[in-house]
Amino acid sequence: MGALIPLRADLGLGDGYHSAQVDVDVRLNTNESPYPPPQGWRDDLRDLISSVPFHRYPDRSARALREALAELHDVRPDQVFVANGSNEVLQALLLAYGGPGRTAATFEPTYALHSHIAHVTATHVVEGERRDDFTLDLDAVASLLAEHRPEITFLCSPNNPTGRAEPEDAVRAVIEAAPGLVVVDEAYAQFASWSALSCVSDEAPVVVVRTFSKTWSMAAARLGYLVAPASVVEGLERVILPYHLDAVKQAAGRLALRYRAEMEARVKTLVDERRRLAAALAGLPVETWPSEANFILFRPRDRGGDEVWQALVDRSVLVRNCSSWPRLGGCLRVTVGTPEENDAFLHALSEVLSS
Ligand SMILES: *Cc1c(COP(=O)(O)O)cnc(C)c1O
Repeated sequence: MGALIPLRADLGLGDGYHSAQVDVDVRLNTNESPYPPPQGWRDDLRDLISSVPFHRYPDRSARALREALAELHDVRPDQVFVANGSNEVLQALLLAYGGPGRTAATFEPTYALHSHIAHVTATHVVEGERRDDFTLDLDAVASLLAEHRPEITFLCSPNNPTGRAEPEDAVRAVIEAAPGLVVVDEAYAQFASWSALSCVSDEAPVVVVRTFSKTWSMAAARLGYLVAPASVVEGLERVILPYHLDAVKQAAGRLALRYRAEMEARVKTLVDERRRLAAALAGLPVETWPSEANFILFRPRDRGGDEVWQALVDRSVLVRNCSSWPRLGGCLRVTVGTPEENDAFLHALSEVLSS
């Protein structure tokens, strides 16, 4: 018998990426939709499940789902790659185009999973810095890209956890300056006014990553995709496991796209609520940043982030505690919920900040 061997040394002591799962009434910590998908989708899915040939492997290339996504975005199915959540899409990108001897660039603070999955795939990470207001400093971006020549450059727009969307000219400038693939994570795209999808073509090294977890109200389904040059999609098929996407999930995604108008109505409601939340936060002793997503980052002016986070939990309101994250000292992030949830949050926060 061998011995229990130590973990790969390069994985270090990181404890991964987890949000506290605390039992509270108002959960505004993981940027999910507060609204479930439409009942019609549920009924369609139930009918479809009753006819799935469960004894057979699913369609390995997820053809019908990719065709439906291609139609949605006016691209070809061979430019679409689908996986179990956009995190698996990101992992496949890093497995195929990152790895030992290769470099990925991020601009911090941004989505922690970009650098985390890069580390797990043994991709070297270089971290650029955003300005204090969390916008990109394009001169600093250009010199970082020129110095490190990363194979993969990550952008996130709107950016989690800051909420800002990158302006079109900034994204185009990064694409111009990057020596390799530019991956734009658009998990919150439908909340914003511009998408980098218009930059994707077979000739440009640009990849746009999307998810069903947020605007489509399907976080439980674990479904994400990207739109990219066909050659990149071929590359990803080399690293993904055979039959990685089960038949039910393929159907769930395809059927969801029939309820696009309902998705857009939910997005509109949440954008209205985001504006209301932002206006209310402006009247409280907190610093905030403009958001084009379904969440708002804020920093209590005279109170510690940990203390305010705990006081909110004590009032059964859970937000994301970012206060110990690099560059985000004292910050909390609140997801836009239903009007009632947002009221409960605002009520609890003003109570905490005035006590
Ligand atoms: C929530 C989120 C995702 C979603 O990941 P899934 O694996 O699709 O649930 C991806 N990127 C960003 C920036 C996110 O905030």
